[in-house]
Amino acid sequence: MSVQTTTMYIGGQWVAAASGRTMDVIDPSSEQVIAKVPAAGAADVDRAVKAARAAFQGGWKEATAQERGRVLLRLAERIRARKAELAEIETRNNGKPIVESEYDIDDTATCFEYYGGLATKIHGEVLPVPAPALAMALREPVGVAGQIIPWNYPLLMAAWKLAPALAAGCACVLKPAEQTPLSILALAKDFEDVGIPKGVVSIITGDGPEAGGPLVSHADVNKIAFTGSQAVGKLIMRNAADTLKRVTLELGGKSPNIFFADSDFENAVDGALFGCFINQGEVCSAGSRVLVERSIYKKFVDATAEKAKKIRVGPGLDRQYNMGPLVSKEQYDRVVSYQSVGKKEAKVAAGGAAVTEYGKGFYVQPTVFYDVDNNAAIAREEIFGPVMSVIPFQDEADAIRIANDTSYGLAAAVWTRDIFKAMRVVKSLEAGIIWVNHMQPTYVEAPWGGYKMSGFGRELGKWGVEEYLETKQVYINLDEKPIGWYN
Ligand code: NDP
Repeated sequence: MSVQTTTMYIGGQWVAAASGRTMDVIDPSSEQVIAKVPAAGAADVDRAVKAARAAFQGGWKEATAQERGRVLLRLAERIRARKAELAEIETRNNGKPIVESEYDIDDTATCFEYYGGLATKIHGEVLPVPAPALAMALREPVGVAGQIIPWNYPLLMAAWKLAPALAAGCACVLKPAEQTPLSILALAKDFEDVGIPKGVVSIITGDGPEAGGPLVSHADVNKIAFTGSQAVGKLIMRNAADTLKRVTLELGGKSPNIFFADSDFENAVDGALFGCFINQGEVCSAGSRVLVERSIYKKFVDATAEKAKKIRVGPGLDRQYNMGPLVSKEQYDRVVSYQSVGKKEAKVAAGGAAVTEYGKGFYVQPTVFYDVDNNAAIAREEIFGPVMSVIPFQDEADAIRIANDTSYGLAAAVWTRDIFKAMRVVKSLEAGIIWVNHMQPTYVEAPWGGYKMSGFGRELGKWGVEEYLETKQVYINLDEKPIGWYN
């Protein structure tokens, strides 16, 4: 892929930023600039919001559910047909192993298929009020949705936002992360062809404060759906307050992955590694706190470390590697600095440094720290890289106490062959997503979102579409002489 200067997609047109400014897009495996994209600002955001409003009022709002559903199904088909191309773009831009990008592209298509089917199942209700009346709750799209996403699953996160919003009948202005705009821009080439009317979806490329900021504060945006860090989530909530927008926040986590002594040992070790290191550990639900029952603790740490050392780190497009580079220099610096902090706070079982053999690229060693205190920085702060903190526990109560001792509440997992224990722990954990004897499988049918400071609102499944719907109460009097205090 040669360096190309591309445009962004606003109101059905491919345009440069009003300012003419561009941003470099980097391949994290080589640190080469692979593209330049527009650096959008407030004027571009305003143009996209106006186009969205016009498209919403001018027809999309009235499109039938069947029409909206068919558009999404056609888009899904196109994604499947372009799988190899989109997966390659994703890996070049994000760094992840190509096999993981291929999974992501399949999941992206599945997400559009699911909401393509769901579009015709959105309906209101008739309510049994005591008066001689027909009371109804109608469902209507909220209007124009601003959507801001991170860089870890670029195309999939775009699908999680766009698919339910379009199924609901909203128009969207989506801002990808500045590091990873290429896959959604590539997909946008197909939008009009599959039947998405001009203006119904705009993609604005740009950085957080310059492009995301004006989207959040724009008076004609009805809702902001955000996925990203806790710090930016708080800012978004504050900045959306002046215009009293609906806000949904999918923030990060410091998720506990809990292993009892009776779990299947080999599967458990693999589950700890997969739960923490998939996607280079750049996963909001990463099982970055591994809690292990004292009686198997030493054996578990040794086995996990042994396997962590065998993970092959290298360029994502080369299929012999199963972990790619981190997405950016900023993320690399962040993870390397936590590796240094961890060496002071705990003991190292594996990794603990950058990978330097390639001379360039943002590679780090998968790292396992053990004897970690749950109050240590590496146990409390989201690192968003392949860094695991292993913490011992005494018994079930101790495991639950440590697991819940965090400001986050996105996800958790528990491993045991005792169903009674599993269910007791599931009920006690303060998290929005809980796996039993696995960690990370994510399906579009099931709800996704956090408790506590991991945010609020739910994506995926029928819950995802709810966030893009208003509820309108309609009361139709059926009595010739209406009741009232003045009668
Ligand atoms: P950030 O919060 O830094 O950025 C997320 C998005 O917000 C980016 O598009 C960013 O733009 C934008 N942004 C930044 N500042 C502002 C602002 N002032 N106003 C509006 N938008 C802004 O997160 P990262 O991209 O670094 O992603 C990693 C984080 O995302 C992790 O904390 C992770 O846990 C979380 N995450 C959560 C998921 C979930 O489902 N709960 C899923 C995936 C990730 P820019 O690109 O310019 O920074």
